[in-house]
Amino acid sequence: MKIICDWENCKEIGKYRAPLEKDNSKKFRLLCLEHVREFNKKWNYFENMSQDEIEYFIKSDVTWHKLTKSFSSSDNFFNILWNNALEDKLNIFGSSDFKNFKNSKISKAEKDAFDIMELNYDAKMDEIQKRFKLLVKKFHPDKNQGSKKYEDKLKKITLAYSELRAKIGKK
Ligand SMILES: [Zn+2]
Repeated sequence: MKIICDWENCKEIGKYRAPLEKDNSKKFRLLCLEHVREFNKKWNYFENMSQDEIEYFIKSDVTWHKLTKSFSSSDNFFNILWNNALEDKLNIFGSSDFKNFKNSKISKAEKDAFDIMELNYDAKMDEIQKRFKLLVKKFHPDKNQGSKKYEDKLKKITLAYSELRAKIGKK
């Protein structure tokens, strides 16, 4: 019995091993020559990414919205992304979003600022401004019976907003 290539909609014979998980090369599937070549190209792309870049990739619009629509929160998000990206079922590599992502650079300070404001790393200025207004309202002492317990939080949010306004506002 011949083993058929595991790539979606492929009927060729699967002769070449492709790892299933980033950290576990014991699990693998079999692909035809054409698809193992394509797989390797994408695999190498991720291998060359730093942890920060992978994190950014996962949080960016390129993948986030597409994935959260179709998978439950209990799934191992990274493995799902990994497998889908490698097979490119979501057409991630062909999308213009992905090309933009490749050209984009984000600093540690910017990322921290996005995290503090609970925004995706590719949020635009109008979205950042909206979120800032919302958070200020939420954590302002006037809205919390004069309580100062959110003062530090508010300070951090304000600094994060300044950081993003300086960087993103200019773009
Ligand atoms: Zn194939």
